[in-house]
Amino acid sequence: MLIAHRIALDPTNAQRTYFARASGTARFAWNWARAEWQRQYTARKDDSSLPAPSDASLRRQLNGLKREQFPWMFDVTKCAAQEAIIDLGGAFRAFFEKRGRYPRFKKKGVRDSFCAANEAGTFRTDGEKIELPVVGWVRLREAVRFTGKLKRVTVSREADRWFASIMVETDDIKSVVQPLAAVGIDLGVTTLATLSSGEAIPGPKAHKALLQRLRRTSRALSRKRKGSSNRRKVRAKLARLHARIANIRRDATHKATTMLAKTYRRIGIEDLNVRGMASNRRLARSIMDGGFFEFRRQLEYKARFYGATVVVADRWVPSSKTCSCCGSVKAELALSQRLFHCDECGDEAGRDYNAARNLENLAESFAVSACGEERSGVGHKPRVKRASVKQEPDIKAAA
Ligand SMILES: [Zn+2]
Repeated sequence: MLIAHRIALDPTNAQRTYFARASGTARFAWNWARAEWQRQYTARKDDSSLPAPSDASLRRQLNGLKREQFPWMFDVTKCAAQEAIIDLGGAFRAFFEKRGRYPRFKKKGVRDSFCAANEAGTFRTDGEKIELPVVGWVRLREAVRFTGKLKRVTVSREADRWFASIMVETDDIKSVVQPLAAVGIDLGVTTLATLSSGEAIPGPKAHKALLQRLRRTSRALSRKRKGSSNRRKVRAKLARLHARIANIRRDATHKATTMLAKTYRRIGIEDLNVRGMASNRRLARSIMDGGFFEFRRQLEYKARFYGATVVVADRWVPSSKTCSCCGSVKAELALSQRLFHCDECGDEAGRDYNAARNLENLAESFAVSACGEERSGVGHKPRVKRASVKQEPDIKAAA
């Protein structure tokens, strides 16, 4: 199984400079190949005897040109350009198979990154450091968590920090027999998740203070004059804060999703769009959206690892407005109302807990309908869809 572990790097200043340059080369190669691909593709419409572009042909073409035209490419590992074009080929394949959008040009400063494949020992780690081509040993903030063959590394920038995502071919992960049948999960901001079992997984502690700082900083940004250097500084600070919050959340989410996928055979969660629409605070919203997306992403691949099923509630299922006890649906439920009180059966429960219970019911009903049995004696009809299962084997992951 291929799994990636993303680790923060501690590069020296010279190494940072090199990373930026290698990312620039990767971006250049992507953009060059993206333009060339389109040109060749269009030319083929007039003359069908021309060969179809492919990442292999474009890599050969660039290799033939670079000594003459782009000699600065030799300053960084050749992997940077090669892997960028391989990735572009993958993006075009995804587009033609209707799995992705048409590949776009890359902009400087937006998701700067470069990759290196480990064909003949291009890189290695000793636990504390990673040795990359040209730049040498770079300190890792933690050791690679999985044992096995290192296949590929992606070095990428997030705000002002650099990360290595190391893909490992490993046998470390085996599917488990989950002790419990089903659970529903309601995701939140201060409480990371409320479970239908009655447990709540608290949000990361450092989160709250950082969120406050984020609010202050974004207010400060709005007061700075456009184009001023002060504004640029505050914006960089804001980007760092966003990245730190996302990282803290990601770590907490990893613990929670691993526990869930190992404990429950069926896990019900809601479609995230519902939450995005329900939330009214812009700031909390951008963080929630990212956090929810990450939670679902992790939960889905870990469920695949450990053999659990994720059931995603259809976005029109009113999981917060439905009574988990009798199934009657409220017409309105204000977001401020933290307690769910059912007018039909008189049941009273915490809002999040009630929603989680409904999601558990959905996960349960999914199991029943999967066996082809009719569900009986329940007031509301389950509307569920199976969590999407990606086809490609190189699951982008980090446990
Ligand atoms: Zn009720």
